Amino acid sequence: MNKAVLHDHLDGGLRAITAKELAIKDSYKPLLDVEDIESFFNRESSESLEDYLDAFTHTTALMSSYENLERIAFEAAEDMHFSGISLYESRYAPLYSVSSDLSAEDVINAINSGFKQAENLYGIKSGLILCGMRNDKKNVTLVSEIAIEFKDKIIGFDIAGPEYNFLPSLFSSEFNNLKKNGINLTIHAGEGDGVNSIQDALDNGAQRIGHGVRIIEDIDLSNNKLGKTAQYILNEQVPLEICITSNIHTNMYDEYSKHPVADLINLEFNVSINTDNRLMSNTSMDKEIDIAKNLGINNVENILEKSARYSFLNNF
Ligand SMILES: [Zn+2]
Repeated sequence: MNKAVLHDHLDGGLRAITAKELAIKDSYKPLLDVEDIESFFNRESSESLEDYLDAFTHTTALMSSYENLERIAFEAAEDMHFSGISLYESRYAPLYSVSSDLSAEDVINAINSGFKQAENLYGIKSGLILCGMRNDKKNVTLVSEIAIEFKDKIIGFDIAGPEYNFLPSLFSSEFNNLKKNGINLTIHAGEGDGVNSIQDALDNGAQRIGHGVRIIEDIDLSNNKLGKTAQYILNEQVPLEICITSNIHTNMYDEYSKHPVADLINLEFNVSINTDNRLMSNTSMDKEIDIAKNLGINNVENILEKSARYSFLNNF
């Protein structure tokens, strides 16, 4: 049986040692003098979102050549394989890497080439979801056009970046075009914004919700009474791409025991367990599986197998 990870950012998952090696190879100054590269990238106790996002400026800076992208993609898939994963969905905002030397197609080809190497070696299947950055309308429009042009090389489309004030509806025409072209949609919602954002993602064709954890705010746990959006997600079994550690690190919940993942599972929501940003959150699938078990979730292996049924890789 396949086990899947549905929500992992390629630029949030570099191995720390690889970041250091690439920085030396490319003479990337900001990292050259960093002694403890692992601690440098670990933003577990980030004081601010700026501090958290700062880490990504360094990883994306190292993702500007074909060979670097290929290596980073290969290693991401390899790490997932060693955590027992056989279907790996990776997402990335390609415009971070596009330059006069590297086209959007080069970026996609480099990542897919790394994935292919891992598949040949280990059998793990990986696929790329392209992300538009929702705080930049032009970026979303452009990435949606890239997704359509290279739809045979990718498995889906997403919008990432700050959720609050950037509802999916801002990009309705882009989502419509993507749907017309048969491109799978997952949308970050219900993390930085609430239930209305999740409903808006559904209204714009999201087949899965990135995070979606704040659907809990549409449920009265004292009597298990569900609001309209929660009822729909439950009835339709819309997959929620839950990323526990990431939610703790962005201060959505003070501590693991306050995270609602177990409640959502008990209510029979379609939950998957994911990593989001392994480097910045100092996590891995092994760690997320352990964390879920510690929260009293006994059937984590079944959850990973169930996630595989909802993977966009199934029709790739
Ligand atoms: Zn994410």
